[in-house]
Amino acid sequence: MLIAAHPDDESLACSIVLQHAVCAGAAIRVIYATDGENNPWPQRVLERKWRLNGTDRERWGKLRRAEALAALDFLGVGASRASFLAVADQKLTELLMSGCRVTLKRLAAIVADWAPTDLLVPSISDTHPDHSALAVILRLVWSEYLSGKGAMSAWSYVVHGRSRAFFDRAETIRQTTVEMAAKLRAISCHKTQLKLSRKRFFAGLGTAASGAPEKARPVSKPATRQCGWVAAQRGTDLLKLSAPIVPAPTFRRTTR
Ligand SMILES: [Zn+2]
Repeated sequence: MLIAAHPDDESLACSIVLQHAVCAGAAIRVIYATDGENNPWPQRVLERKWRLNGTDRERWGKLRRAEALAALDFLGVGASRASFLAVADQKLTELLMSGCRVTLKRLAAIVADWAPTDLLVPSISDTHPDHSALAVILRLVWSEYLSGKGAMSAWSYVVHGRSRAFFDRAETIRQTTVEMAAKLRAISCHKTQLKLSRKRFFAGLGTAASGAPEKARPVSKPATRQCGWVAAQRGTDLLKLSAPIVPAPTFRRTTR
């Protein structure tokens, strides 16, 4: 199960690991917290419209959903495997600070229902506020609703920033040239984002043969928990993390 803040996060940070999961025959789910609808500058440029209203944003969100599904298709993940929660884009920090009880319960129900063996979540070190806020939200989901409910391994990924807290302890995901080519095709599906962010989207990826590998960092497990990630304190947003050294994720063949 991959949980992402926006359409395009899957292609930028998890294309290779998703392909590995597909190859292993794993049952896959991709959950998008937002539709990425609050994305005014690319929309203004592409639609040649300065003032954007709710209808405009809704239309943009639908476009971004379609781009995500097209990208997933290139990675071997069918549209039926994706869900969009339509939480307000660019508002996840606000949501977190407001308590987000409904969202916590909603996410907890989704994770508990699917009961993934492996969970990929945004890193708290990601510099995009929606990503780091979602990271904290998911740790709260774990500590408040899911602790002790079955074993799963959790891995975090970074889309924005070069945090040493992440990269110094992240594992490199092995990739082939064929997988890298599929990743580039998946990224290319996000046409709404390429107009203004093409350079950033392809930075470091280079050619299919020399692309920078994806990284994943194991999400910490408190010593007292069998399968938890983290001790989260809501009042101060302090996350007590430890980082056990564990091998890169592998996937079991499952049917669902
Ligand atoms: Zn994002």
